[in-house]
Amino acid sequence: MIQLQQVGKTFDGNHVLNNVNLTIQEGDFMTFLGPSGCGKTTTLRIIAGLEQPNVGIVTISGNVVDNAALHQHTAPGDRGLSLVFQSYALWPHMTVYENIAFGLSIKKLGKPDIKRKVEESLEKMRIRELRDRYPSELSGGQQQRVAIARAIVTEPTILLLDEPLSNLDAKLRIEMRTELKRLHRDLKTTIIYVTHDQVEALTLSTKIAVFFKGQLVQVDTPRGLYRNPATLEVADFIGNPS
Ligand code: ATP
Repeated sequence: MIQLQQVGKTFDGNHVLNNVNLTIQEGDFMTFLGPSGCGKTTTLRIIAGLEQPNVGIVTISGNVVDNAALHQHTAPGDRGLSLVFQSYALWPHMTVYENIAFGLSIKKLGKPDIKRKVEESLEKMRIRELRDRYPSELSGGQQQRVAIARAIVTEPTILLLDEPLSNLDAKLRIEMRTELKRLHRDLKTTIIYVTHDQVEALTLSTKIAVFFKGQLVQVDTPRGLYRNPATLEVADFIGNPS
């Protein structure tokens, strides 16, 4: 379980997050949804440990990873999670296999274990046939699959995805949505997903957290949000897919 309690964040005196209270249960596919600049990525980065809240407490699996009042902060690498950003940041000089294995290199595993895990990961993302190619020889969707394979190879209990499909064309986005749904079902990992795409949020998530102007306005299931939006702006945002 991940918990944010009264979390606030200021950049250069601007309050970009105010009093965010949120609980994410194990196995949830939780999507942060809202218009550009509302604080979705900042919230994700705080959970990842890449930003520190100015106010509040963050707890992951019962451990306090941030307590602003006590200046307590756990480094990203010690939080047991994996991140995939909008830009996939694959190493251009490494093959697909090497890129994925790179995620395991700090784990001090023997070669046979690395090989087995990388192959499982290639299999899960259905990219076995791409293992010896370099990133420049891949399409956007294939690169995205490799980035996700690299994130899941370490078997994270929590997977953070920041607009991972935003650079893909419409057809690939739909294909990748199906892949992500399957991955969530198969891995039983907690996924936290950032998007400003209402359709993506409604089709993928078990829960959606809607942000507006640094405030968490509503958390509900897709059906609950659609049927009972808490405010007019939520109704408007959910009802008007871009
Ligand atoms: P988008 O969908 O456009 O990525 P978002 O909802 O993810 O938007 P954030 O990236 O969390 O929004 O940004 C929230 C606000 O905080 C924005 O006004 C942004 O300009 C500001 N902000 C984010 N990071 C920083 C930073 N490092 N320094 C200063 N301001 C920042």
